[in-house]
Amino acid sequence: MNRNRAFYIGRFQPYHLGHHAVIQKIAKEVDEIVIGIGSAQKSHTLEDPFTAGERVMMVSRSLEELDITYYVIPIMDVHRHAIWVSHVRSLTPPFNVAYSNNPLVIDLFSEAGIKVKKSPLFQRDVYSGTEIRRRMLNDKKWQDLVPKAVVKVIKEIDGVQRLKKLSKIDSQG
Ligand code: NAD
Repeated sequence: MNRNRAFYIGRFQPYHLGHHAVIQKIAKEVDEIVIGIGSAQKSHTLEDPFTAGERVMMVSRSLEELDITYYVIPIMDVHRHAIWVSHVRSLTPPFNVAYSNNPLVIDLFSEAGIKVKKSPLFQRDVYSGTEIRRRMLNDKKWQDLVPKAVVKVIKEIDGVQRLKKLSKIDSQG
């Protein structure tokens, strides 16, 4: 019997508890999850500080606690939205449903004839990459907005210091 496999993509800068709650929900509905690390080519900017490899670590280690088979695949952007779904499919295990809350992602998958389920938002005001990066820069508490595994990865890669250095470069330039 074919397995019911879902696709979920995000930039995960960083992976936070909102993303994690969505994946926990998806895990109850399918057999396997394919997670795309979007904008995989980006890193070392204030909006996209973490590399694809670092984000693979954040997601993979956070998902170890869930009882589901998952694949974490870095996906670089392409300059033409019209071919993006084919690009994604060329890199991932086959999937029969995509979950997203991003309007462009929803439109592109729907137009390609792939079933899309709109994922719910959890406490979007605080579970947000922008808010977490803002707190990191301002020495505010961010650790309770991400899974414990992500706190460890960010510590391991000295992520907060990287963000602070990037902010200095940005304000000088
Ligand atoms: P993101 O990390 O901001 O969010 C990922 C998903 O989580 C989204 O569905 C978002 O709505 C959801 N989310 C965010 N906060 C949440 C919360 N608190 N609770 C529940 N869900 C929450 O990433 P994104 O920007 O949506 O990622 C899309 C990726 O796809 C980007 O990397 C983008 O560049 C890529 N993309 C590329 C092309 C192209 O290359 N042409 C086209 C479309 C999309």
